[in-house]
Amino acid sequence: MARETKLEDIVSLCKRRGFIFPGSDVYGGMAGTWDYGPLGVALKKKIMNEWWKFWVEGREDMFGVDAAILMNPKTWVASGHTATFSDPLIECVNCHGRFRADKLGDFPANVTKEQIVGAGIKCPTCGQMAWGAVRQFNMMFSTHVGPIVDDTSIAYLRPETAQGIFTNYKNVVDTIYPNLPFGLAQQGKAFRNEISPRDFVFRSREFEQMEIEYFVRPDAWKESFESLLKDVHFFLEEKMKISPEKIHELEVPEEDRAHYSKRTVDVEFDYPIGREELMGIAYRTDFDLKNIERESGKKMEYRDKNTGESFVPHVIEPSFGVERLIMAVLCSSYSEEEKDGKTRVVLKLPENLAPYRFCVSPLLKNKPELVEKAREVYNNLREKYGNVTWDDSGNIGKRYLKQDEIGTPKCVVIDFDTLEDGTVTVRDRDTTEQIRVKSTEL
Ligand code: ATP
Repeated sequence: MARETKLEDIVSLCKRRGFIFPGSDVYGGMAGTWDYGPLGVALKKKIMNEWWKFWVEGREDMFGVDAAILMNPKTWVASGHTATFSDPLIECVNCHGRFRADKLGDFPANVTKEQIVGAGIKCPTCGQMAWGAVRQFNMMFSTHVGPIVDDTSIAYLRPETAQGIFTNYKNVVDTIYPNLPFGLAQQGKAFRNEISPRDFVFRSREFEQMEIEYFVRPDAWKESFESLLKDVHFFLEEKMKISPEKIHELEVPEEDRAHYSKRTVDVEFDYPIGREELMGIAYRTDFDLKNIERESGKKMEYRDKNTGESFVPHVIEPSFGVERLIMAVLCSSYSEEEKDGKTRVVLKLPENLAPYRFCVSPLLKNKPELVEKAREVYNNLREKYGNVTWDDSGNIGKRYLKQDEIGTPKCVVIDFDTLEDGTVTVRDRDTTEQIRVKSTEL
């Protein structure tokens, strides 16, 4: 039986094959940051594009926005982030290691030092039990905007993309007059000063989100919630090809929900680190738009064109983290196969997400006529599909193994028969079967 995929398998493949590197690697890294190499950026863009195609371009009721990362600090006062966007921090008085208190065991977010001591938890770094009090640590990164560095110039790197959507709700309503229900979608960077970034890209300090705020009539939130949740499953299972057995819904109980949420479902995935949140969908009521009204003094009402009725819409928010989706896609695709005492690592990525769709090679790189023909096939496929790679290194067997590891579905080899009859060998990544077809039929 195949062994379970470990997180190290994914991390090591990502580094070895140029998907994801530790951020600022050359200087010894920067905790909680990651850099994408050629293969990783291709995978990430494909995932983000599929998301955009599915949620925005594929629907009449969704529209895109792209807001600035730096926002007026009033945004974060109104949203509650300035006051409450914090995690419980605990410090070891002995070694001064700092940890996220609730993650030291199975504790609630309002965990106390007494609970941690009562559970016999020792410092993961020095092994002592010398805890200080738990205090709240605000996770927003602050900076100063403009040449004056004082309290009046403080700004924050956005900790979520959602507020850039809410602050544009009125602009969109006043310019394109969408009918309710409608959604606004945004993709982009978010920053959180996580106390303990960990588990590869799962918990990073700089990451990317893909969020939708779906505006509905207050009395119609339930059906929109259900239908968006159904679409989330369809997207994950059909577009990302994540196996349904690994996807689970967690109905978040009231005591664990954000105070503004009347219903939250966390969609979890069986990662090698355990079952964890991949994305969340929350009913946020009119919390955000009402906060904006209060802080800005501007009305956020929507006027129904047919009935003339005015009201502040309620909101359902499906929120995806790109990194957690990448990790779920990689974990779902990763497989190891034993054959003749050798291990073949295969990334069984779906065709729509594979960084390269084809790899083209001449059978022998020292035969100019083969190389010339292979270049012709390569150029044609590249023109047709874009994401096609060329590989004439090593022997054919090694090339196949390398392409298997980076998830290329088909390897195309040009040999002497190609010169005679225009057929090429096409080798399938998953079955390793080879067939001959006319290169023009690819
Ligand atoms: P968690 O409980 O795991 O910290 P959260 O509930 O705070 O996550 P949300 O605020 O709901 O997360 O953010 C929406 C999505 O953004 C999450 O479902 C996740 O996919 C992603 N996300 C949140 N924090 C991080 C992070 N530090 N690194 C990578 N992705 C993240």
